[in-house]
Amino acid sequence: MSEKVVIIGSGPAGWTAAIYAARANLHPIVYEGALTEENRLRGTLPLGQLNLTTEVENFPGFAKGILGPDLMMQMREQAEHAGAKIVTEDIVDIDLSSRPFKMKDSAGQSLQAQAVIIATGASANYLGLPSEEKYKNFGVSACAVCDGALPRFRNKPLVVVGGGDSACEEGGYLTKFASTVYLVHRRDELRASKAMADRTLANPKIKPIWNSAVDEVLGAEVQTGVGPQPSLTGVRIKNLKTGETQTVDATGMFVAIGHTPNTKFLKGQVKVDDKGFLVLTEPHRTLTSVEGVFAAGDVADPIYKQAITAAGMGCKAALDAERWLAAMGVH
Ligand code: NAP
Repeated sequence: MSEKVVIIGSGPAGWTAAIYAARANLHPIVYEGALTEENRLRGTLPLGQLNLTTEVENFPGFAKGILGPDLMMQMREQAEHAGAKIVTEDIVDIDLSSRPFKMKDSAGQSLQAQAVIIATGASANYLGLPSEEKYKNFGVSACAVCDGALPRFRNKPLVVVGGGDSACEEGGYLTKFASTVYLVHRRDELRASKAMADRTLANPKIKPIWNSAVDEVLGAEVQTGVGPQPSLTGVRIKNLKTGETQTVDATGMFVAIGHTPNTKFLKGQVKVDDKGFLVLTEPHRTLTSVEGVFAAGDVADPIYKQAITAAGMGCKAALDAERWLAAMGVH
């Protein structure tokens, strides 16, 4: 048996697509992602990036703001209430060469679908240093909200890398725990929105280090209750103008340098642009290079990347899928 619509991803785009598709009687199945350590490290756990943030103040309908995880749980419940079926697994294999499309999930289950909506979002980039890799989970993180409250970061100096809204948000959040937050940015001004940049630079606990890059993560083996473990002790920072290096003592480095769309599982079957975002083939629509495959949210949005735009794209993807299925005689 073949499903009418399978939605892959569980951020605002996925849940909005699910609500619309369920209300159109398409009986959507949402693959929300698996609860694995690998997904935790990659930032691809169910409920997407908003589940990793704190206050959301720019999603209309919540005059006093709402916590990201609360917003995502509301969307999930709404989709379930509308009739969407939710599976807490990843799609690990997909064959889009003929219809119905064939898929396999991380529990080994096979399924087929007439239409697919890809809403897998994007996950955090890292600097790519071997020393950074070594201290992931031992002081290196890409998610302040997930890891900031850990004992190793309490009342200690921390480093945040980046100059966009994410870096400012992470930096501000970390000042709750850290003694000082060093914001290491490769230019001499922030890319973040004006309000966010002003708030960041006015925070007495945040010390910017301009025109600089982390070129080495430093650490040592320390004795812990569960035996010796690697532990980040600082970073080496290079001034990109003078070439001088300095060591900054810190127990954590939070990387906030942008995101990469989650398209690996598609194995090149759907066209992407030069930055890896899924290409939408018609203006204002959510059609991809594969007929019957639609895309919504950050995985296909190199420009806006907002929760509300992702939700809007999810709505469009469900409507596009519904109309396309109707044209194919699937009701
Ligand atoms: P972003 O705006 O693309 O900023 C990435 C930052 O990382 C830039 O400052 C960039 O430097 C720096 N960077 C990139 N690659 C680097 C590298 N290899 N080494 C060192 N630095 C590097 O990404 P983002 O901050 O994650 O934000 C993404 C989108 O989400 C934006 O549209 C943003 O407005 C939105 N967002 C909004 C909120 C909010 O409204 N509360 C919060 C978070 C994110 P350059 O400046 O030199 O390019």
